[in-house]
Amino acid sequence: MAAQAGDLIVARPEGLYCPPGDFYIDPWRPVDRAVITHGHSDHARSGHAHYLAHRDSEAILRRRLGDAIQLQTLAYGEVVHHHGVRVSLHPAGHVLGSAQVRLEHGGRVWVASGDYKLEADGTCAPFEPVRCDTFITESTFGLPIYRWPSQAVLFAEIDAWWRRNAAAGRASVLYAYALGKAQRLLHGVDASIGPIVAHGAVEPLNEVYRAAGVALPRTFLATDASLDKAALSQALVIAPPSAGRSTWLRRFGADPADAFASGWMQLRGTRRRRGVDRGFVVSDHADWPGLQAAIRATGAERIFVTHGSVPVMVRWLNEQGLRAQSFATEYGDEDDGPERPEAPAPDAAAQQEPA
Ligand SMILES: [Zn+2]
Ligand SMILES: [Zn+2]
Repeated sequence: MAAQAGDLIVARPEGLYCPPGDFYIDPWRPVDRAVITHGHSDHARSGHAHYLAHRDSEAILRRRLGDAIQLQTLAYGEVVHHHGVRVSLHPAGHVLGSAQVRLEHGGRVWVASGDYKLEADGTCAPFEPVRCDTFITESTFGLPIYRWPSQAVLFAEIDAWWRRNAAAGRASVLYAYALGKAQRLLHGVDASIGPIVAHGAVEPLNEVYRAAGVALPRTFLATDASLDKAALSQALVIAPPSAGRSTWLRRFGADPADAFASGWMQLRGTRRRRGVDRGFVVSDHADWPGLQAAIRATGAERIFVTHGSVPVMVRWLNEQGLRAQSFATEYGDEDDGPERPEAPAPDAAAQQEPA
């Protein structure tokens, strides 16, 4: 299935391009006009002349790309017209400000999902299915083995782990990506167990979430004078993966418990490769049933799959009688912040592992 006349989005070397509107969605090379689905660094890149994004992404984008970017923001559902293309943003449930992009032109409706997750987590507007003819979906966890525990099960496990460590006098270091995952963990844990310390790469994003009205428990920086140092052995420490190799960790005692929070933790061996005690299966992407439900809910007959387990998802969709094909993109398989280059054990290796 090749590109067809009238397609509202086509693949170009710079990124996903809308020919009638003359703009790109999450382009990976510098362009004149970019619609940005969310603030993760593989989707929101620097160097574009004009940016359009959801208003809750503004602080994240300015922090990551610089205050001087030319940025127009929209509320969910608000419409702008560009060269006759009707453009609107709709909640993707992935991270704060994350949006699906709906395009309407010449009687056609296309939706580009960006990254998305179906289960509401209280830290961003929940995913809303948008009816369309053609849906462009991510497929980061597009394999049948990926099935996430519910929020309730997940946080019961994390709280039990933290409580047990605190009782044993060990700090609990939980590694998570700084944007989205970290705030979701903070929002969900039982903050009465002990103090919570946020790494310096995480706390500025916590502030962005709080300013957007998301309820997060009190967090301390490790250097806070008001932090009771004697209580550090009861603390939960939220840190990006790169902190695992830093001397910063030493202040939490000789032998803190550690864990990694990621969808990849569903694969056997990943935790061991990360060199941590525990792995919690938590992802801000849809799992296999979630991807299927989301795709079905759009009513789309034509599906493009952009990143993740693309061939498996394309085959499955074609077997369901849909017209599916891949779009080659340069998005990452996980949500890599600036901490990514130093991160331990690449997730790419984990993907090779048989289920
Ligand atoms: Zn992505
Ligand atoms: Zn993302």
